[in-house]
Amino acid sequence: MDKVIIVRYCEIHLKGNNRGFFERIFAENMEKALKGVKHEIRKQSGRYVIESFAESDVEDIVRRLKKVFGVHTLSIALKVNTSLDQIFEAVKTVAPKSGTFKIDTHRADKSFPHNSMQINAEIGGRLLDLNSNLRVDVHNPQAVIGIDLRENGTSLVFSELVDGVGGMPVGTAGKGMLLISGGIDSPVAGYMMAKRGMKIDCIHFHSYPYTNMQAREKVEELASVLAEYSCGTTLNVIKVTHIQEEIHKKCNGDYMVTLLRRFMMRIAERLAGKCGAQCIITGESLGQVASQTIEGMTSSGSVVQNLPILRPLCGFDKNEIIERSRAMGAFEISIRPYEDCCTVFLPKHPVIHPKHSDVLAEEAKLDVEALIEEAISTLEVVKL
Ligand code: ATP
Ligand code: MG
Repeated sequence: MDKVIIVRYCEIHLKGNNRGFFERIFAENMEKALKGVKHEIRKQSGRYVIESFAESDVEDIVRRLKKVFGVHTLSIALKVNTSLDQIFEAVKTVAPKSGTFKIDTHRADKSFPHNSMQINAEIGGRLLDLNSNLRVDVHNPQAVIGIDLRENGTSLVFSELVDGVGGMPVGTAGKGMLLISGGIDSPVAGYMMAKRGMKIDCIHFHSYPYTNMQAREKVEELASVLAEYSCGTTLNVIKVTHIQEEIHKKCNGDYMVTLLRRFMMRIAERLAGKCGAQCIITGESLGQVASQTIEGMTSSGSVVQNLPILRPLCGFDKNEIIERSRAMGAFEISIRPYEDCCTVFLPKHPVIHPKHSDVLAEEAKLDVEALIEEAISTLEVVKL
């Protein structure tokens, strides 16, 4: 009896003419996730089956597949030749020791002489004869034993459904440029857009030497966590120290964050153009901090000329974001102490509802273009 893993994908999205496109990218993403582990991926009607792996790799494979968007559920299954005796041998292995159960048979192989109902009754009956601690409950069973009779003369038997992450295969919905800080929110924002099938490139701004190397390493680690879900990412790192110093020197300090955000957005848009990203993604959530008011977002958004800005967390409470951060495995990294560049020169009373004319008046004191060019000249690119 060989072990295999059944992968069921989120089918609703894959119907229609471009189904083949989604399936191809989904299979490629699974291949990437399983790189370095011996396996074969086979497509069967409406699902994939992973086989030919070492038994000791099962947990590792499941763990990796649980980070592939598009996976609806997974089952570790036993593969046997299609005969009632062999199927029953497999069922004995996966059946619970006691409690209630039902057998749920799907028969793709219509040439098999028994239909699904008959197989349920026969295999269920044999199991009851074998173990008097088991009872059948077709309505609310404690265990469901699945039997799949495939067209190729083999059957798959399983009793467990592991939830996948859902979503759409990464690479089916364009590419976005994520503004990533070392905080809790932005990695979650990237995760959410990757979940909808978007490839993610990242951009991070630092203020070395006001911010230290640990802050930088933390961002690399966060981007690496995200990369496990987004089939890799490219982290673009840009120094904005001179911009903050210049704002500090020349402008009303209360506008520091507002002005800096506008620089970040402009630089992100230029880099997006170079990387083929079609939108900018931020981790902003309405009202969370002083800079995340609707006026603040309007001000930072107004300098972006040609791209939409996606803020997938805009309507989330902090608690909801933290829950997602934990689930993706980023939270413990995000809460490490560090200095974000925005906390350097942080004003005591940042403007909360910046007026457009005031922002423009402050910005007029700066050579915006020269500052942007200097920032872009510091670009470092890290492939993750
Ligand atoms: P986060 O937890 O993502 O840091 P936050 O609640 O701390 O968010 P802000 O610091 O106001 O909020 O940042 C809002 C958004 O601006 C971030 O989610 C991120 O997208 C972007 N951002 C902030 N700082 C940086 C930075 N140093 N580099 C790149 N993007 C940044
Ligand atoms: Mg932050």
